[in-house]
Amino acid sequence: MPSWACLSGEELKRSWTFFDEAIDLKTNEAKAICKHCSKSYAHPRTNTNGNWTSSLSKHIKTHEEKELQKSKEGSMDKFLKSNKNMRVLAKVDFDAILLETAVTCNWSFYQFDVPQFKYFLSRAFPEHRSPGRKYVKSLLAKAATKAREEIKERLAAETSKISLALDC
Ligand SMILES: [Zn+2]
Repeated sequence: MPSWACLSGEELKRSWTFFDEAIDLKTNEAKAICKHCSKSYAHPRTNTNGNWTSSLSKHIKTHEEKELQKSKEGSMDKFLKSNKNMRVLAKVDFDAILLETAVTCNWSFYQFDVPQFKYFLSRAFPEHRSPGRKYVKSLLAKAATKAREEIKERLAAETSKISLALDC
């Protein structure tokens, strides 16, 4: 078995545009270092399995595939698709965001009956019907009930912990 392999000029040239030749100062081993991600491989001249280009080529390929994927992601088609997914809010999310904003900004319920605001919502979220004052009121009531229940549950959990602590 030969302990070396003849490399065609093309393979060599291609690899060394992707790898730097280096010496590991701790072990004095020659290395091939990827210029993109600094991953190191045994230097082809010291690698005795005679199969070095396949691992180096494989590594180059992983970078090329990543690049390809990136360029695909950047295509208008992908952009439009992802954009569309981001645009469409589920109704429950739409309601939650509206309610949260209204509470945080201290809006009165009448905000939702202001025609200009309704127009803005219908333009910004054409998939959703802009809610009126009554609907938002009911949302808030529901959210308040839910919050109360959550607090109750949390308190119940705490009390059981406390009583446990007192028992022992
Ligand atoms: Zn790399």
